[in-house]
Amino acid sequence: MQLGRFPRVRLGHLPTPLEPMTRLSDRLGGPRLWIKRDDCTGLATGGNKTRKLEYLVADALSQGADTLITLGALQSNHARQTAAAAAKVGLKCILVLEERVSQPTEAYRHNGNILLDRLLGATLKYVPRDTQMVEAGERAADDVRRAGGNPYIIPVGGSNPIGALGYVGCAAEILQQAADLGIRLDRVVHATGSSGTQAGLIAGFDGMQSGVRVLGITVGRPRGVQEKNVAALVDETWAHLGLKGAAPHDNIEANDAYFGEAYGIPTPAMKEAVQLLAETESLLFDPVYSGKAMSGLIDLIRKGTFGKDENIVFIHTGGQAGLFAYEPAFAA
Ligand SMILES: *Cc1c(COP(=O)(O)O)cnc(C)c1O
Repeated sequence: MQLGRFPRVRLGHLPTPLEPMTRLSDRLGGPRLWIKRDDCTGLATGGNKTRKLEYLVADALSQGADTLITLGALQSNHARQTAAAAAKVGLKCILVLEERVSQPTEAYRHNGNILLDRLLGATLKYVPRDTQMVEAGERAADDVRRAGGNPYIIPVGGSNPIGALGYVGCAAEILQQAADLGIRLDRVVHATGSSGTQAGLIAGFDGMQSGVRVLGITVGRPRGVQEKNVAALVDETWAHLGLKGAAPHDNIEANDAYFGEAYGIPTPAMKEAVQLLAETESLLFDPVYSGKAMSGLIDLIRKGTFGKDENIVFIHTGGQAGLFAYEPAFAA
């Protein structure tokens, strides 16, 4: 893979631990469950965007940027990690935040990631629901240029072939850890949104011909749309890595059965999963991504989808800061 030839700024505490979830496996009656602690990447409460930002921020610095601009929903974990990365390397940061969730509570509007965005010194620009986010980002960049600055726009979720390199690296890290533990990995499960995590993992696992299956649980998109987005980014990442031939597509699988009504709207199964993981493993999951994805993994296990002796790794993509924005949803 030769990831070392791509410019990278160290932002995360890597490698993150790969740990057994013994009590959860026992509770569910198998399979063998593991957790990859990407909630512990260390950047202002961590999460999966840190790995992508290591490559994206390096690219921004090589272009002489002085301002990072990115886009997301109000409680975007990606926006918060971008603000943290900017603070750490001494860049300015503008976050264009979409009021995507209808009827937000006070906690949603002001607590969680928003509280952290402000502490990290980012400038917040709120835009209404269904705004064309790419154009909104361009407008923010024009403003920076007019003021004599040099902006660098990071796409939603940091999901482009540069950001996806972070999850190619994560795939390599997981394979190394599995080898050290002496276990054969069968499958990786995680929350999938803007696709960079899933595309990077697939390019990594398939590029290294590991045979590890990847299952993304969607957090708001129908399966067909998600799989198409992932496929496009797998192809681009494969080319960016300089891998030969066409990227295989047979490892692209998204399950859309667990996000409920819409993106960011709590489901009863998410709440059960968040509670269960806290009680059995002291793991904190978030309501928008990892909690819904874990509710999917639990349901698929209960339905007998996996073999009892399979080794399954759930990638904890972070997002705990979002818990505080959803306090009312958990109030008894
Ligand atoms: C962004 C995010 C995801 C989804 O990752 P993508 O690369 O956007 O698909 C999953 N979990 C959390 C907590 C996130 O913030």
